Amino acid sequence: MAKKVREYSYEELLDRAYSRLPAKKGPAPSFTIPRAEVMFVGGRTLLLNFKEITEILNREPSILQKFLVKELGAPAFLNESGQLVLQGRFNVHILNKLIQIFTEKYVICPTCGSKDTKLIKKGKVFILRCEACGAETTLEAF
Ligand SMILES: [Zn+2]
Repeated sequence: MAKKVREYSYEELLDRAYSRLPAKKGPAPSFTIPRAEVMFVGGRTLLLNFKEITEILNREPSILQKFLVKELGAPAFLNESGQLVLQGRFNVHILNKLIQIFTEKYVICPTCGSKDTKLIKKGKVFILRCEACGAETTLEAF
């Protein structure tokens, strides 16, 4: 007596195959460039959320500080609350634009668009190493 074999349809087979695959990774959560929150105190500009910005970008506060000092041509220091104090009054739009430029150039991988990167100083250049795709981009150091 022939043993009855259950026949699977093509769709059923596909479903079975897919159900054994590990859960598919969704797209990377969209990344929003942090915005500056500023306050003017006398002739100074306080970048209130400086610490949070560097944490979101995963960069050393000193490197973003150096970048802003160079671009604005103004001295700056960190106060005890981790806020950046810039000598001079700077429009929030200018600061946001600089944070955007910094993020696009020194944080986001130009090959795959990931922000999961490391910035390594090597002599006169920076190497932007992407943890997601492995690409290395050489950038002019400052
Ligand atoms: Zn990449």
